[in-house]
Amino acid sequence: MFRQRPLTTSIMSTMSSRGSTTLRPITNRVSSPIFKSLNSRGITTSPTLRSSSIKDSTRSKSSTSSASIQRPKLGSAFFLSHHRPSPFGLSSTSSLLGRRAFSIPPKSFTLKYPFLSLLTRLVLSSVLGIFVLTSVILFHDAFTYSERHVDRVPCNPLSLEPRRGGKKNLPLLEVNLDDEEDDGKRSMKGKPRLVVIGGGWGAVALIQSLPPQAYNVTLISPQTYFAFTPLLPSACVGTVEVRSLVEPLRKLIARVRGHYLMGSAMDLDMAERLVEVEVPKDGGEGTMRCYVPYDKLVIAIGSTTNNHGVKGLEHCYQLKTVPDAQNIRRKVMANLELAALPTTTPAERKRLLSFVVCGGGPTGVEFAAELADMMAEDVLKYYPKLLANEVKVTVIQSRDHILNTYSEKISQYAEKRFARNDVDVVINARVQEVQQDKVVISIKDPKDKDAKAKTEEIEAGFVLWSTGIAMQPFTKRLVEILPNQYHSKAVEVDNYLRVEGAPLGTVYALGDAATVHTNLVNDLYSLWDKFDVNKDNTIDYEEWQEMVKYIKKKYPLASKYLGKIKDMFDEYDKDKDQKLTLNEVAEMFINLTTKATSYPATAQVASQQGKYLGAMFSKLAKQRNTLEANGIKDLDDETYHHPFEYMHLGSLAYIGNSAVFDYEGWSLAGGLLAMYAWRSIYWSEQTSMRTRMLLMLDWVKRGIFGRDLSKF
Ligand SMILES: Cc1cc2nc3c(=O)[nH]c(=O)nc-3n(C[C@H](O)[C@H](O)[C@H](O)COP(=O)(O)OP(=O)(O)OC[C@H]3O[C@@H](n4cnc5c(N)ncnc54)[C@H](O)[C@@H]3O)c2cc1C
Repeated sequence: MFRQRPLTTSIMSTMSSRGSTTLRPITNRVSSPIFKSLNSRGITTSPTLRSSSIKDSTRSKSSTSSASIQRPKLGSAFFLSHHRPSPFGLSSTSSLLGRRAFSIPPKSFTLKYPFLSLLTRLVLSSVLGIFVLTSVILFHDAFTYSERHVDRVPCNPLSLEPRRGGKKNLPLLEVNLDDEEDDGKRSMKGKPRLVVIGGGWGAVALIQSLPPQAYNVTLISPQTYFAFTPLLPSACVGTVEVRSLVEPLRKLIARVRGHYLMGSAMDLDMAERLVEVEVPKDGGEGTMRCYVPYDKLVIAIGSTTNNHGVKGLEHCYQLKTVPDAQNIRRKVMANLELAALPTTTPAERKRLLSFVVCGGGPTGVEFAAELADMMAEDVLKYYPKLLANEVKVTVIQSRDHILNTYSEKISQYAEKRFARNDVDVVINARVQEVQQDKVVISIKDPKDKDAKAKTEEIEAGFVLWSTGIAMQPFTKRLVEILPNQYHSKAVEVDNYLRVEGAPLGTVYALGDAATVHTNLVNDLYSLWDKFDVNKDNTIDYEEWQEMVKYIKKKYPLASKYLGKIKDMFDEYDKDKDQKLTLNEVAEMFINLTTKATSYPATAQVASQQGKYLGAMFSKLAKQRNTLEANGIKDLDDETYHHPFEYMHLGSLAYIGNSAVFDYEGWSLAGGLLAMYAWRSIYWSEQTSMRTRMLLMLDWVKRGIFGRDLSKF
C-alpha cells in the first residue's frame, strides 16, 4: 500500500504532463495498456519494480524492446515525476490537477546542499503540519454548529412556583429548574444538599475536588465566573485581557452536576438550615429574597478592602474584582488621553499623570509595577514624549519596607528595582485623608519615635486603595448571630474548618472569610476544667502531657510554638514544684496566642482549604451507605478525617519585568528569567486549558503589538 501511492502518482502525473486525459485508478493497473504491454513482454510487474518500469516505458514510448528495470531512487519518492531544478533547490511538479506543487529535492541536491535540503524539508513539513492542523480545526469547528431543538423538557412544578416557608415566609428553592431534565440530574435526587456560597479560589477548589455524584451541589455567587485574582494587576493596564482570567462557574460545576444561582447570601437560619439569598428580579432592576435549604453549607465569600477608617475613600479605586480592574483601566487610559490634549493646562496634566498607590503589599506593588511598565513601554512609544516624562507613580507604605511579609532581601530588591523604574516609594507613611485631587499623608521618622509626624500632600489624578482585608457583610452577619466569635476580620473556624458556634458538621468556612481559631486564652478555663483531672487546682506533668496532645489537635497553628513538652513545662513552672498554676498556664497561653498568627489571606490558603474540604466530604460520601444502613445520620468529622494543615509553597510577586520568589526564608529575585518563571507558575495554576491558551496569546500579543491602548 505504502509503495503503491508514488506509483499511482507517477503514472498519473506522467500521463498528465504528456497531455493524456485517461487517468485510471490503481486497481485497474494490471488491465491497463501499459501493464498489458509490459506483461506481453514477459516483464514482471511486482509492486517494487512497477514504478520504474512504467517510468521507463512512458519516458521512451518507442524503445519498448529493452525495458531496463531499475529500482526507484530514494530521494524522489515523495512525488515521483520528472524534476525541474529550481534556483531554490525545490523541484516543481506537475500534479494531477495541473497545479504546481513542490517536491523534496533529489538526492544529488541533498548531497550537495545538505543544510538547504534539511531546511526545505523542515519548511515543507511545517507547511504540511499547518495545513493538516487547520483542516482538523475547521473540520471540528464545522461539527460544533448544531440546530438541536428541545421540547417538552420535564420540570418539577415546584421549581416554577416555589412554596413559601422559613421564619420570613420566603420562597423556598427546594428544587431546581433542571432537576428532572435527564437521568443524570434525576439521579441526584435525595443526595445531601451541599450549598457553597462564593465562586472564588476556595469554592472552586472545593468543587473541583468533589466526586461527581456525591452531593447535590448548589453554588451561590453574585458573579457568574471565577476570577484569577493574581493577574488582575496585569489586566488593569492591558498586559492581559480580563476575559483571559475568568472561567464561567456553570462550566466548573457541570462536572458535579451542580446548580448555579446568581445571588448574594444575606442571612442564615441555622436551626432550619436555610440560607437567605438575595437574587435579582425585574430584569435586574430590583431584588428579592428567597431561602436555599442545605445539609452542609460552605462559606467561601472572600473579603472586602479594609478602609482603616480613612476619610475620602470614595475618591479611590479598589482592586478586588474584574469590574475593579476594568474601571481602573478606563481611568488610566482616560487620564492619559486628557493629559495628551493641548487644551489641558500643565498643572492639570501633572496631576492627571500622578498615580498614587496606597499600600505596599503584593497587590499594590504589582499594580505599580504594571503601571510603570506600561508607561515605559507603550506610553513612551505612542503618546507625546512629554507625558512619559511627567508620569509619576508613588507607593505609600505604612511600614519601613514594601512587601514587608516577604524576606528583607526581597523587599530591598523590590525597592531598588522601583527606584530604577522611577516608582517613588514613601515608607513609614500613613494616609490621613483622600481628597478628589490629592492624598494627605503623615510620615513618621523611624529613628525618632517621639518626633511629631510630618504631614504632606501628594497631588493625584488616580488613587488605588489596597491596604488589607475586612469582612464581607454576610461574614459580619454570621459573626453577629453566633456565640464566641471575637475576630475582627473573619469568622473563626476550628481546624476542621467548622464554624465555631454553629451546629457541628453543618457550617464550614474557608479562605479570606475564615480564620482558624488560635485564641488559647479564651479557652483557658474550659481547658483547665478538662485537664485538671484530680481537681487539685494545679496541672501536674501527666495532666500537662494530655493537655498538649489536645492543644496540638485543636490548635494546629499554636502547636508549632509548643516546643518540647518537658521543656515547656519546666520553663513555665516558675516555682519548680513540678506543677503548673492557673497563672503559669495563662502566661504560657498568652505567649502562644501572640506567636500563632492566622494563615495569610491568599489564594494559596483558600485553595488548599477548598481541596481539604473536598477530600473530607468525599470520604464521608463514600461511607454514606454504611452509615445509612446503621441508621447513623451524620458522622463527626474528627472521627474519619485529619485536621487541616497548610503547606506553604512560597510567595511570588511581579515587580516590573522581574519577579521575586520567597519560600521559608529562602528567596530568589531576578530579571526576565524570574518573570518567565512567575508567568509559568500562574499559567499552570489556571483552572482550564481555555484560559491557558488565552493567557498565552495575550502575552504573545503584548510582545508583538504592545498593549491595547483604546479606552472603552
Ligand atoms: C489583585 C489581587 C491580587 C492577588 N494576588 C495574589 C497572589 O498573587 N497570590 C495569592 O496567593 N493570593 C493573591 N491574592 C489574594 C487572593 O485572591 C485571595 O486570598 C483569594 O481570592 C481568597 O479566596 P476566597 O475563596 O476566600 O475568596 P475570593 O476568591 O475572593 O472569592 C469570593 C467569592 O465570593 C463571592 N461573594 C462575595 N460575597 C458574597 C455573598 N454575600 N454571597 C455569595 N457570594 C459572595 C464573590 O463574588 C467571589 O466569587 C490577590 C488578591 C487580589 C485582589
